[in-house]
Amino acid sequence: MIRCANVHPTPTTRYVIDPREQLTAFRTIDAAGEELIGIYHSHPVSQPYPSPTDRAEAHYPDAVYLLVSLRTGTPELRAFRIGADDFIGEVTLSA
Ligand SMILES: [Zn+2]
Repeated sequence: MIRCANVHPTPTTRYVIDPREQLTAFRTIDAAGEELIGIYHSHPVSQPYPSPTDRAEAHYPDAVYLLVSLRTGTPELRAFRIGADDFIGEVTLSA
C-alpha cells in the first residue's frame, strides 16, 4: 500500500491526491512490476458509498475503490468498481 496526501482545500468532504505523490506512486508500482489494484479514501461524516464526485472523478475503471466511513466511530469498509455511465458495482471483501 502506498499512502498519498489529500491536498484538497476541504479534505473533510473532498479528496485530491497530491500530484507529485501520485506520480511517485505510479512509478513505484511500475518499477516493481506491479499493477494498481485499488484506491482508498475515507468519508469522515458520510456513508461508505461512492459520492457523485467520487463517480465523476473515478478515472481507473479497473481499480477497486475502497471507501472507509468514520461516521459512527466504528470504521465501515466497502469496496466498489466505478465505471462509465455511472456504473457502480460493489465488490465483496473477504479476509
Ligand atoms: Zn468518496
